Amino acid sequence: MLVKTILNRVQKFKSFVYGAVRWVDHEGEPALEVELRARANSRPLCSGCGRASPGYDRLPARRFEFVPLWGLKVFFRYAPRRVDCPGCGVRVEHLPWALGKRRLTQACAWFLARWAKRLSWKEVAEAFRMSWEAVFRSVEMAVAWGRAHQDLSGVESIGVDEIQWQRGHRYLTLVYQIDSGCKRLLWVGERRTVRTLLKFFRWFGRERSAALRFICSDMWQPYLKVIARKAGQAIHVLDRFHIMAHLGKAIDEVRSQEAKALKAQGHDPVLTKTRWLLLKRPEHLTENQEARLAELLQYNLKSVRSYLLKEEFQFFWTYKSPYWAGEFLERWCKKIMRSKIEPMKKVARMLRRHRPLLMNWFRAKGQLSSGVVEGFNTKAKLTVRKAFGFRTCHAMEISLYHTLGALPEPESTHRFC
Ligand SMILES: [Zn+2]
Repeated sequence: MLVKTILNRVQKFKSFVYGAVRWVDHEGEPALEVELRARANSRPLCSGCGRASPGYDRLPARRFEFVPLWGLKVFFRYAPRRVDCPGCGVRVEHLPWALGKRRLTQACAWFLARWAKRLSWKEVAEAFRMSWEAVFRSVEMAVAWGRAHQDLSGVESIGVDEIQWQRGHRYLTLVYQIDSGCKRLLWVGERRTVRTLLKFFRWFGRERSAALRFICSDMWQPYLKVIARKAGQAIHVLDRFHIMAHLGKAIDEVRSQEAKALKAQGHDPVLTKTRWLLLKRPEHLTENQEARLAELLQYNLKSVRSYLLKEEFQFFWTYKSPYWAGEFLERWCKKIMRSKIEPMKKVARMLRRHRPLLMNWFRAKGQLSSGVVEGFNTKAKLTVRKAFGFRTCHAMEISLYHTLGALPEPESTHRFC
């Protein structure tokens, strides 16, 4: 069988035919070069407007990199014609395999972009002997195509979340669709300001924003403000995951202060290496950790009391009646305010301040799964960590959309991977 026969099967062009296939040298390695010719009598199409136009002249032959075969690089070789288009003037013809002025063919770019969902960009570049830049541009192309072709109808629930990147100095705001039938990353924006979230709503559009039924977010003031203004009709729920995270942070603060104080007073270092005991859910502890937690709980330490108060708060989410949940919240907050544990008091004050939004959890119950935001948050953090070394926010955004955006791809007759 000829290579040509395989090519005609996997990638056929209407107005072009494959010619000879030969060995060529590419940077000291053998590679395949496939000649492409315009089909006899076919008229070139203008790359500006797509209309068939009279030929003008022919440019020198160029190489376009195609999907590799058996560890060999494969190139198309073609001398593009130029057309004299009545509308656009002299233009190079439209090449159905090309990607603008790039050296990579569309097929190869999609091939790399698909692999980039499974491996890091660096690994893809190494595996297929491409530059990092080539992989990045391919993913960028896939994201641009997917975002231009994605269907945004029927979005009813969204979650707003933020993650840190670049060693915690900078934030990104992420907006997810969290409907039961469709969960995906919708939008990424730099920082976490009022302007950031306003940009999301501008992109999302007035009509779609008005159709939102549930919005889930952290107690971050700029977000609360924009959500109230742009989607006031939606039930705004404070995210369980974020609230528990605030409590976790408070415990961590109490523990580290207390550990330092105990050490300074020359006490037993009972609190060292207990961080995870106090932060993990009890059901996730190992047997050994469980035993150590039991020992720790005998001490009347602020850390221990904070831990117990946090565990008690888990009960809040299990209420069926908003009334009794509200009563529970008030009792819990009072207990905290009497506790003299400042970091915990800070959280309690915050919860009291946002009580109506907190109570919305019960209005949305059963219709909103808040674990979704937590799941996405974990995946986004992982993407950010894997992408360590990205200098630009743009590359970070592209990577997040590519991994979490559930973006569509063009239909093709053959999948190269
Ligand atoms: Zn034209």
